[in-house]
Amino acid sequence: MSKILKYLCAVLISLIIVIALALGVTYSSHDIPVLNYHQINDTDFDALTLSSSEFAAQMKDLYEEGYTTLTPDQLLADLHGNNLPPKPVLITFDDGYEDNYRNAYPILEKYHFNATIFLISNLIGQDHYLNWNEIKDMQQHQITFEGHTFSHPFLSKETDENVLKKELLDSKEDLEKHLGYRIDYLAYPYGDYNAHVMEEVQKYGYRAAFTVHLGDDTSKDNPYALPRVPIFQAYTHTFLRFWLSLHFPTLMNDIQTEKLRLFAQHEN
Ligand SMILES: [Zn+2]
Repeated sequence: MSKILKYLCAVLISLIIVIALALGVTYSSHDIPVLNYHQINDTDFDALTLSSSEFAAQMKDLYEEGYTTLTPDQLLADLHGNNLPPKPVLITFDDGYEDNYRNAYPILEKYHFNATIFLISNLIGQDHYLNWNEIKDMQQHQITFEGHTFSHPFLSKETDENVLKKELLDSKEDLEKHLGYRIDYLAYPYGDYNAHVMEEVQKYGYRAAFTVHLGDDTSKDNPYALPRVPIFQAYTHTFLRFWLSLHFPTLMNDIQTEKLRLFAQHEN
């Protein structure tokens, strides 16, 4: 990216902050951000990867700002109760990458942070994915594990009920057998779901499910369509985007939607 373009981006983002602050756009104390990460590493980069140093900077910021990290059970209880800590946040990782153990876990431990990893049961122990020893080690230290299906399909496109059952129930039971506790939460692969999928998720005993819609969680949300704040690497201003998404999720969602609209127009 050219220097001028970088400069323009910085000016634009600064303007957005000033306007947002002027308009008093901020989170209310009952909105809970659910951060969504995938891979944390410095070698094999893709769109969903975040570098270890960026992740460390973000965790340090949460710590210094006084955030309290929740478990999904606490999130669900807090959404409907009044016992919220002052700055609650839920940290989640999707897919169960091995680098979560190698790179993210030591940083989470440093700050005694809770986090939740959504596992694809069929990929546990495969190349680049967590194995049971790593999972058991983290389970002893404030990391909880929940479901991300058997094989990571687009659930809304699945028409065979038996396949849906295998993805949602068999994978849940497999995780429960190894972990020794009830799996109550699901993250939809690709954030993909529809009304039928939501019904099935509920039928198979999950208490709530997470999407990739950008936003904080509130008591008004359908528990089977809880928003999250996706955090991934881009070429510039990763920390600034993290900070803006954490504090102004609605505003960032509007910007993202507008960007997608302009992109769609451009493509046509
Ligand atoms: Zn996934």
